[in-house]
Amino acid sequence: MSLFRAGLPRAVPSSSRMALRAAAPIVPRRNITSFESSTSGPSFGLTEDQEAYLELARRFTQDEIIPVARHHDETMEYPWEVIKKAHAAGLVNTHIPEKFGGLGLGVLPGALISEQLAYGCSGIQTAIEANGLAEAPLLVSASEETKAKYLGRMTEEPLVAAYCVTEPGAGSDVANISTRAEKKGDKWILNGTKMWITNGGHANWYFVLAKTDPNSTGSKALTGFVVDGDSAGITKGKKEVNMGQRCSDTRMITFEDVEVPEENVLGKPGDGFKTAMGAFDITRPLIAAAATGLAQRALTEAATWAHERKTMGKPIIQHQAIAFILADMAMDVESSRNLTWKSAWMKDSGKRNSYYASIAKCMASRAAVSNANLAVQVFGGMGFNTESPVEKLYRDAKIYEIYEGTSQIQRLIVSRFVEDAYKP
Ligand SMILES: Cc1cc2nc3c(=O)[nH]c(=O)nc-3n(C[C@H](O)[C@H](O)[C@H](O)COP(=O)(O)OP(=O)(O)OC[C@H]3O[C@@H](n4cnc5c(N)ncnc54)[C@H](O)[C@@H]3O)c2cc1C
Repeated sequence: MSLFRAGLPRAVPSSSRMALRAAAPIVPRRNITSFESSTSGPSFGLTEDQEAYLELARRFTQDEIIPVARHHDETMEYPWEVIKKAHAAGLVNTHIPEKFGGLGLGVLPGALISEQLAYGCSGIQTAIEANGLAEAPLLVSASEETKAKYLGRMTEEPLVAAYCVTEPGAGSDVANISTRAEKKGDKWILNGTKMWITNGGHANWYFVLAKTDPNSTGSKALTGFVVDGDSAGITKGKKEVNMGQRCSDTRMITFEDVEVPEENVLGKPGDGFKTAMGAFDITRPLIAAAATGLAQRALTEAATWAHERKTMGKPIIQHQAIAFILADMAMDVESSRNLTWKSAWMKDSGKRNSYYASIAKCMASRAAVSNANLAVQVFGGMGFNTESPVEKLYRDAKIYEIYEGTSQIQRLIVSRFVEDAYKP
């Protein structure tokens, strides 16, 4: 498939060039599906259903995300209309089990979808994905009744939810959070402040991690709760103005004497740390998938530009220095995608995937940041301009190395596995 569009002015990307680029097939099919599936041993082939979800997400991204991505970046407007359409198309809340009205998809199909959506706009994709992050602790620890109540409603209408763990004083150091929940009669009373909460301003309900044992400093002191978004005592801070993914809604959320019924405890008191971290086995492969989508977009844009832009009498792709940049970008995309799929497949196969989820998240985040940087380089001066598609990618990419555990924290997790595996 040729990504080259003849006849367009070459010097400056016009809006018509941008429109054409937006309408091009999103990911060259060969990147995803050229592996032969085999009957034994490792297989990278997708099932018919997985192919169908991939194709649905690809079309949705092309038709509904790419055309509005710039608008949402410029205005920082929350992408409600896209979320509603994605909900109607079955691309949100994909891992809610069928018995609660969801599709019951595994992590791998979710990853295929996430990569496509993030290819179109990782800010819009983050707004969509934050639902999955909030829902994951319920999948890990909630009772059947709580799942039916809070997951069920997500499938009925396009609502969003949020995951509240980080605080102004504790992000990586989760065990050190200070939000408190105290048992009074048959209720818990929640007090504390959470920070950087994605979907915080729009959430119908929150997953909240709080300290329930004041006499313990360890992870067993923490408990997870589901808190209704309209509970008395919740204050939503202003929308934070971030470097990238600007339409995603990030806020401080304050809980002041918020009453939470006993049945909204996830698992039992003291299970909270395990619940909040267990959720990452589901969601880190999806963040890795989204980062891969951004890395792929950077490659697509850079390679397309490199065919079009001429210097010293030839397209810059024919200068080896540029061709090798593109080769490095392609290698990063492929390795990120493979690691993402492996970490997702392990979870779906019932195997412990924390080690691979951290590797995939760390590698794909690095690929996103590196590819966005290299794409700006390939574009030259135009890459530094807001008219180019890669300037947004450059701003959007960085967050992948920060949220859902920084790259240092992923290395910490991987290093613990390594230390353990090679113990003399
Ligand atoms: C846009 C955005 C959206 C977010 N969405 C959510 C959300 O929905 N829900 C939520 O709960 N949180 C969310 N977060 C918070 C995010 O997960 C945290 O910012 C992140 O975990 C890092 O925590 P911190 O900011 O407190 O940094 P710190 O923990 O203070 O870390 C600062 C630096 O020190 C490094 N560091 C810290 N400890 C160690 C260590 N032991 N070893 C080596 N290096 C270390 C870190 O890697 C980092 O580089 C979001 C953040 C942003 C910016």
